[in-house]
Amino acid sequence: RSVVAETKSARVIAVANQKGGVGKTTTAINLATAMAATKKTVLIIDLDPQGNASTGLGVDRSAREVNSYHVMIGEAGLAESVIATTIPGLHLVPSGVDLSGAEIELVTFERREQRLAEALAGTLAAYDYVLIDCPPSLNLLTLNALVAANAVMVPLQCEFFALEGVSHLIKTIERVKQAFNPGLELQGIILTMFDKRNNLSDQVAADVRDFFGDKVYKTVIPRNVRVSEAPSHGKPVLLYDMKCSGAEAYINLASEVLKRERELRA
Ligand code: ADP
Ligand code: MG
Repeated sequence: RSVVAETKSARVIAVANQKGGVGKTTTAINLATAMAATKKTVLIIDLDPQGNASTGLGVDRSAREVNSYHVMIGEAGLAESVIATTIPGLHLVPSGVDLSGAEIELVTFERREQRLAEALAGTLAAYDYVLIDCPPSLNLLTLNALVAANAVMVPLQCEFFALEGVSHLIKTIERVKQAFNPGLELQGIILTMFDKRNNLSDQVAADVRDFFGDKVYKTVIPRNVRVSEAPSHGKPVLLYDMKCSGAEAYINLASEVLKRERELRA
């Protein structure tokens, strides 16, 4: 190890899948919380106009006045939009409803795919991880997330059409690599809402593992009612019910992700 103090530079992970309701936001919030619990400093960027990550972390609308919309259109610097959450080590760039119009506003901007990457550059030294919660679409916002990211994490819901549409995302990742971000990699695929009483869940999990091999995390997130209750209390499930199966799974996922990250950097 060098005796010179290392400067931190966050790893940026985009949590993306153009399907809605597959567990992107739940994964971003709970993975970030579990990482923060191991003393990592983590920033979540809520890039979905619906603002579920902001709500799920208990951040009121009144605290979202400066948000990812202003960052995207250049009205605020990223650091100005960051707020602390109730979880030590976990910060948030909230989203705002105006974000839904950002795509149209950005059409006339130069380097409109690189807005987030450029805004983030000055903040990377402050965090170990930046997780970007993407909207359910392959729009310009998601494109900005992929351009800003080192890696993509894809939540896949264990249901019949899980693999359908993923090829679209994989193609988009390839295009982003070629055009903007050659270092972008697939961090991993996380199977979500697994129902052990349903044979279809097993079948889908097996198909996804056949197709993506080692990229699929060993950890599977079970369908668990506590996970779906937690956001209405403004809490990650890890704080809402630390002992439930969903919380346990996200703790396991975090250790798998951190292990994979250590291997990637070794
Ligand atoms: P996305 O961000 O991809 O749209 P969400 O993370 O918001 O998906 O999840 C969609 C819905 O499913 C939310 O109501 C969430 O609380 C619920 N949910 C997510 N993961 C689980 C789970 N493991 N068990 C039960 N409900 C879940
Ligand atoms: Mg979401």
